[in-house]
Amino acid sequence: MHIILLGPPGAGKGTQAARLVEATGLVHVATGDMFRENVRGGTELGLLAKSYMDRGELVPDEVTIAMLRERLDRPDAAAGSVLDGFPRTTEQARALDDALAERDQAVDAALLIDVPPDEVRARLGGRWTCAADGAVYHETNNPPAAAGVCDGCGAALTQRDDDTPAAIDRRLTVYERQTAPLIAFYESAGRLVRIDGARAPADVGADLLAALPTASPEVD
Ligand code: AMP
Repeated sequence: MHIILLGPPGAGKGTQAARLVEATGLVHVATGDMFRENVRGGTELGLLAKSYMDRGELVPDEVTIAMLRERLDRPDAAAGSVLDGFPRTTEQARALDDALAERDQAVDAALLIDVPPDEVRARLGGRWTCAADGAVYHETNNPPAAAGVCDGCGAALTQRDDDTPAAIDRRLTVYERQTAPLIAFYESAGRLVRIDGARAPADVGADLLAALPTASPEVD
């Protein structure tokens, strides 16, 4: 089963992907995390990606699609994945369909976490993340027990380079122009499920789980 999480930056895709992965055992594939790992590792791909990420732009399709294909080819993704942050363009969505068709698989559901732009801006501005275990906090909505320290592993929290006001604006514009058209793409294929994301993470998570194809009652 391959599940896509769609939604604007700051919708909570990473947080919800972690919940879905825990509940289903599917592998979490987050292209943003993969790019950030490459940036940290100082790889050629990381250097290239960083120049786009810091501006809030998308990394070119060719590069992103090649990285995703390689990830899906690893054995742990054979049974399925929760795709977080991919696809972000129609070209990526088509490439994903092709890659999965080659192995007689398909996108089973595209789950849209719907959050209005003003809410997104407020969320991203106060976001702190743990580079060690990926946990996400928010200054007011979800603060860590001790300021600047991850509750789970005790590592120092950091703000992402692309959570600056200018990069946030750019990411929202890029989302509207390049990624939002995917809503119609998956809707017309009958694969879209829309979830109200402007609620407590646990409520959003419960709806997402209920929307998974395997969670639906069998009809005969
Ligand atoms: P995210 O962590 O998903 O918000 O991604 C952070 C940044 O990584 C984005 O703003 C893009 O610059 C880049 N990125 C992540 N996923 C993709 C993708 N599917 N296509 C192009 N760029 C991406």
